[in-house]
Amino acid sequence: MVIEIIDIHCHLTFKEYEADREQVIEDAKKVLKCVVTSGVEPEDARHALELAEMHEGFVFVTLGLHPIHVAERTDQEIGEYEEFISDNKRKIVGIGEVGLDYHWIRDPLKIRRMKEIFEEFLGLAKELDLPVVLHLRGTGSDAIEEGLKIILDEDVREAVFHCFTGKPQLAEQICEEGYYISLPTSIAKSKSMKKVAKRIPISQLLTETDAPYLSPTEEERNVPQHVSVVYEEIARQRKIDVQVAEDEIERNFEQLFAVEL
Ligand SMILES: [Zn+2]
Repeated sequence: MVIEIIDIHCHLTFKEYEADREQVIEDAKKVLKCVVTSGVEPEDARHALELAEMHEGFVFVTLGLHPIHVAERTDQEIGEYEEFISDNKRKIVGIGEVGLDYHWIRDPLKIRRMKEIFEEFLGLAKELDLPVVLHLRGTGSDAIEEGLKIILDEDVREAVFHCFTGKPQLAEQICEEGYYISLPTSIAKSKSMKKVAKRIPISQLLTETDAPYLSPTEEERNVPQHVSVVYEEIARQRKIDVQVAEDEIERNFEQLFAVEL
């Protein structure tokens, strides 16, 4: 069997894999073509780069500062981290995840800084000519709409809305602007994600697990191979062969992250 599926967003560095990380990656290699692990803060970033080095051509990396990690870092630490990212530009395929999180960040001062740092990282992405992986979480579609406005204002050309939870109409609007939408394994339980899978151009669709989160099974911990659930759902919704979805998504992946598989 030819292996063609891709997980564009997971966190293989997280503590949930501490006991069996290598086994998880070896198991993933049997089913997937490649995965992208996203570093969310400086220590995690170092770890992500190590994993990519150990599994060259299979584990790709994006580095960013997740909005929930902004408050714990000083401006100087963030500046140094951005330098670290610039120094490692050749080892990464994108900037992210970065964005807005109104689910966890409620304090107005912290919100202001979260936005400033988000914009700073968008600037870094443009400077390094890398695509952005966006984390936009809030009530309803608010954070997504705001994030879209910010990237348009900042003139960011290459971005993917990771774990898209907004309405299908908003997904269409995002695609009209030329950005990508990534659907996670939780699509199995989401009517709205199924509609998105059906309605947006397949040329702008990507697939992810956000593992260790969003497990589609009874197990608490998600793993990259569960991304197959997203492919199956896309094929079902669009009435196409899974093989067609695999080919399209591989092309989208290569296009967005400038990687040749
Ligand atoms: Zn994530």
